Amino acid sequence: MTDVCIIGAGTAGFSAAIYAVRAGLSVRLLENSIFGGQIVYTPDVDNYPGLPGISGANFAMKMFEHASKFHVEPETVTLTGCDLSGPVKKLFTDTETIECRSVIIATGASHRKLGCPGEEEFSGRGVSYCATCDGMFFRGKTVAVNGGGNTALEDALFLSNNCEKVYLIHRREGFRADAANLNAMKARENIIPVLNYTVKEIQGGDHVENLLLASTTGAEDRVLPVSGLFVAIGFHPNTELFEGQLTLENGYIKAGEDCKTNIPGVFAAGDVRTKEVRQLITAAADGAVAGVQAAKFLA
Ligand code: NAP
Repeated sequence: MTDVCIIGAGTAGFSAAIYAVRAGLSVRLLENSIFGGQIVYTPDVDNYPGLPGISGANFAMKMFEHASKFHVEPETVTLTGCDLSGPVKKLFTDTETIECRSVIIATGASHRKLGCPGEEEFSGRGVSYCATCDGMFFRGKTVAVNGGGNTALEDALFLSNNCEKVYLIHRREGFRADAANLNAMKARENIIPVLNYTVKEIQGGDHVENLLLASTTGAEDRVLPVSGLFVAIGFHPNTELFEGQLTLENGYIKAGEDCKTNIPGVFAAGDVRTKEVRQLITAAADGAVAGVQAAKFLA
């Protein structure tokens, strides 16, 4: 039986795999999508010590190569359920039951959606959640980014390299992004902040043509003509699979810095865990801690 199954091959998952396998455990790394996690959508990573300016995609590839060196590679597996209660942990797919002695959950988080009219309709026809993936389709055009965090500002910066104009729509006056991103944004003449507005409706024909914006301060609604909208309003944790078994807090798996959950032998690492700072490096740190804790648990 496998010692530890790691669910999710993002930064936390790869880090956990490297630490667990080096601790002598047998490891399976399960991923339902592309490996790498959220970082693959980041154009430039500039805050991971030792790797300034690396692209998110390259960072993910390096993690893959690093884990491969220890003979761990992500397996494409879609889990449909799990039973974490006993000493043998069971992970279910449509066709098999995977059994293991310990589980590290590193499922991360998914893009939060606006939930406004037009969002679903124009998804893939002007509405995108990934500037690095889809930005090239908007070369020379005017687009909008919605959000006030680091992702929104980095998306706006990335898009401003090739788009004519980038509106940065944010629901309040102050941004929560880092000073470095804020200063870079202010230095770009073709990024135009649209503050104190939210996107009320996305309108168009075959593709996005207009955004109907609602004021958060009582001002008039306004219409913004754009060819695309990049939604960057944060993430929600991927924990549906574990509801009713693990203790959750605001949807996140409740676990401290030791990554231990309420079930012995089950650990939570990275963005899926209750924590204050969600960064690449804290995801990597969580993976290391969870890998070591799994080895201790199984010793
Ligand atoms: P975030 O920090 O949670 O920011 C989400 C933004 O969207 C906030 O400005 C929020 O507004 C806004 N928002 C949320 N719900 C909204 C809604 N329904 N309508 C309109 N606006 C809405 O998300 P993120 O920028 O994706 O970043 C996630 C985490 O990754 C953060 O910890 C971030 O620091 C980290 N990250 C770091 C880097 C980096 O270090 N280079 C790069 C990317 C991401 P309010 O501000 O009003 O709440």
